Amino acid sequence: MSEENPLKGYFRREGPHVKLPSGGHFYPPGMIELTLAGEVPIKPMTATDEMMLQSPDALLSNFAIQHIIQSCVPAVKNPLGLCSIDVDALIVWIRIATYGPKSMLDATCPKCQAEASFEIDLQQILDNAPEFQKEYPVRVNDEVVIYLRPLTFEMGTKVSMIGFEQASKLRNLVDDQTVSDDDKVKIVREASEKLAELNADMLIGSVYKVAIPNAEVTNREHIREFIKEIDAGSYKVIDEAMKKLNVKLFDHEFPIVCEACGHQYALKYEFNPANFFARVS
Ligand SMILES: [Zn+2]
Repeated sequence: MSEENPLKGYFRREGPHVKLPSGGHFYPPGMIELTLAGEVPIKPMTATDEMMLQSPDALLSNFAIQHIIQSCVPAVKNPLGLCSIDVDALIVWIRIATYGPKSMLDATCPKCQAEASFEIDLQQILDNAPEFQKEYPVRVNDEVVIYLRPLTFEMGTKVSMIGFEQASKLRNLVDDQTVSDDDKVKIVREASEKLAELNADMLIGSVYKVAIPNAEVTNREHIREFIKEIDAGSYKVIDEAMKKLNVKLFDHEFPIVCEACGHQYALKYEFNPANFFARVS
């Protein structure tokens, strides 16, 4: 028999209840337990959560982010299935629930090159988060309408890993004297093929429904086959709509005034788990 822990009342407190930028529209039933108000409760991080974030390794960071969402937002049953923008918003909420909304932003003035650190309010990032509609239909022709959804964290992670891999492969290639020019051409071609394939995967992952006269297709394999066989013009239309849909939360720009020369400019917050999850005293 399990006995109720008398210390339970002293566990970390549940923090704010928040709304997800996606509105939860794109999730299968049961993936998130929303409250009646359509919100999820956020808990502050534990010491174990904090320790997981200390690794600078990118792969581990994504693993850590997944772990932290599981720990601090138990209402989310499958963090990998979240839209990337919801992941970003939850990360900011967890940061605020644990350390408060203040963070530091390092900036170099583009006019006089003076370096400075600015205190910013992370709440502003959340206040300016885009709100998603229920559906994103893209008409490809008279008979076909494609319904898009934002990319999942799982897909976004895969995209950035493969993109990073291929980019560093190409960077090292230029100076490598041991590789013949013929082989270099071949490697570059392989890398661009991989990236094109990745883009197609992203697109397929972003289409959740195709409407044709008298039918709606949701079968993943049918959609995959269709996107692979679509004409270039239609592909471009869907590709552009997908890119517009996958806005990033951290694209929010903070207004900065240079103390040295008075120049005003806007700066994005560079998200990096290592310094993002640091207390500002
Ligand atoms: Zn300046």
